[in-house]
Amino acid sequence: SAKTMGRGCYSFYQPQMTRQVAHYLNREQELRNALQNNEFVLHYQPQFSADELSIIGVEALIRWQHPEAGLLSAAEVIPVAEHSNLIVDVGKWVIGEACRQYRTWVDAGLPGVRIAVNVAVRQLKDPQFVSIVADALAAHAMPGEFLELEVTESSLQNSEDSVSALRRIESLGVTISIDDFGTGYSCMSSLKLLPIHRLKVDQSFVRDIPGDRNDCAIATAIIVLGHELGLQVIAEGIETREQSEFICAAGCDELQGYLFSKPLPAESLADLLRGND
Ligand code: C2E
Ligand code: MG
Ligand code: MG
Ligand code: MG
Repeated sequence: SAKTMGRGCYSFYQPQMTRQVAHYLNREQELRNALQNNEFVLHYQPQFSADELSIIGVEALIRWQHPEAGLLSAAEVIPVAEHSNLIVDVGKWVIGEACRQYRTWVDAGLPGVRIAVNVAVRQLKDPQFVSIVADALAAHAMPGEFLELEVTESSLQNSEDSVSALRRIESLGVTISIDDFGTGYSCMSSLKLLPIHRLKVDQSFVRDIPGDRNDCAIATAIIVLGHELGLQVIAEGIETREQSEFICAAGCDELQGYLFSKPLPAESLADLLRGND
């Protein structure tokens, strides 16, 4: 109680903090069970070439098919998982599942499609990471060229482990994309030195195009920077025709966003691929 502890204000906060920690640990355990019970699924959001508007790739995004609560978003999974090593196991499942889905689509007669998978910093630092990727590709006879890893700028911050992992990843033919580009601490020299293939213009810079002059300038500058560095550029979060027109006029290579398609279950994506020419 407050009296026995001697400091009244501390005793006021403690139960609250304990509850939060308990909630967090509880959620982590729930996620472990979900992984065990195979309750995670991947949805796939198509990525389009800017010139032909044909599907050139998909981004795999995790969802949680909760037995009572229904389909839960990545926000219910990733932040808690990223706080613990659970993200390593969840991430391993995601990579394996994406490769399995590639194989399923190809075996169903669909053209091979590039699948981009989000990778957390903790995964990149896992000594097993490269072999997890290599094993998943081999298990499903997926050529490395069809897998892309989306990492954030923070993954590239002075970490020898991550850098050497990226180089070994590249030797598998797997491409690397920098997600949410421009929102983290960008290290221009790492853009030059690392085996990066693509920049993703973050949706926060796309949202207020064309009204916001600063966002127009930032998006344009990222596209120019990427091209000058010999990289491809994709814009995410495109919701309106005006945004799409501006981004295309600025020379962006690829487009992703609700204007074109929301993330879809694998079967719906297959229907789209069938109609894609
Ligand atoms: P992200 O990688 O930047 O993914 C883009 C997010 O924007 C996705 O949200 C996508 O559904 C959403 N989005 C796509 N187009 C639009 C649009 O036009 N407008 C708006 N407002 N949003 C759009 P989602 O699926 O909820 O994922 C959120 C974040 O969770 C992802 O951001 C990524 O950082 C993380 N995430 C998702 N799946 C995984 C995963 O398998 N592993 C890891 N490590 N992180 C994941
Ligand atoms: Mg992403
Ligand atoms: Mg992003
Ligand atoms: Mg993000």
